[in-house]
Amino acid sequence: MTKYIRKCYEAGEKSCEVCGKELPAFDCWPGRTHFYCPTYECRSEVVKRTRYRTIGVNEKPCSRPGCNGFAPAGNYEPTRFRFYCSEECEKKSWFLEVRITNCTWCGKEIHRPNRPGVTNTFCCPEHNHLFRSEHLISERAGNYFPLLTEYVDGFVSTHYRKPYGARNALSYFFQFLMAEKVGDIKLVSPKLITRFIASELRRGGIPTKYVSFVSTFFDWMIAEDRFDHANPVVPRIHHAKTPKHLPRPYSEEEMTETVFERYPMATISKPFSKPALIRPRERTQA
Ligand SMILES: [Zn+2]
Ligand SMILES: [Zn+2]
Ligand SMILES: [Zn+2]
Repeated sequence: MTKYIRKCYEAGEKSCEVCGKELPAFDCWPGRTHFYCPTYECRSEVVKRTRYRTIGVNEKPCSRPGCNGFAPAGNYEPTRFRFYCSEECEKKSWFLEVRITNCTWCGKEIHRPNRPGVTNTFCCPEHNHLFRSEHLISERAGNYFPLLTEYVDGFVSTHYRKPYGARNALSYFFQFLMAEKVGDIKLVSPKLITRFIASELRRGGIPTKYVSFVSTFFDWMIAEDRFDHANPVVPRIHHAKTPKHLPRPYSEEEMTETVFERYPMATISKPFSKPALIRPRERTQA
């Protein structure tokens, strides 16, 4: 079964790119770019042209700046962009392939492949993630974004191993506050937290997943004298026991194979180095 519609050409519509002879009517896959007659000579000539590129003597100057040499004559791959007169020139031209830039998130100096059209570079996947999530987080937090940033930069950065968890959790909480049109953080009540949990349930996932982050956030607000009431997250009401996860059951196939079949390198240490002592059964009645 073909996944594409074959393209049909009329007689004389295409001609051989080697000898120029007009081709008879034929059909082929739609992406075909090379056309040639079905003779051995024309086919092998096309293969030669497309598989490698032949460079003559003194044809390609060395790509290393300041070198007046030429690349040695021979066959090269057709996609080759730079040519070097020697291995030494190639080694010393590493900077042509590498771009020295700064991490868009933290500003650290980094070396990256010289690719055009790349505007943002990062020193690590974490910083890429932080940069990408930044606009998402600010969109969710809305008017609360400055407060969230203050909390993340202050308390979170010193009390959590990584800031993403709290940042993400609270962005959902603030998104909920924005949707509920709660303009002031001081108006958050236990009732609202219950509604937040219900809304998280509707969104899917574990409804109380973010509650502890919210609770810690209000502890911080209270400690900073910015919240007049008790913490709106009430443990006995808002904390639910998370279900215990059982280990994945074995499949039928796994049940039949032994540990040695599954892990050929595995060795089992013997539980007893000495043979277990078997006592004769004591006589209870003489
Ligand atoms: Zn031909
Ligand atoms: Zn050179
Ligand atoms: Zn960085």
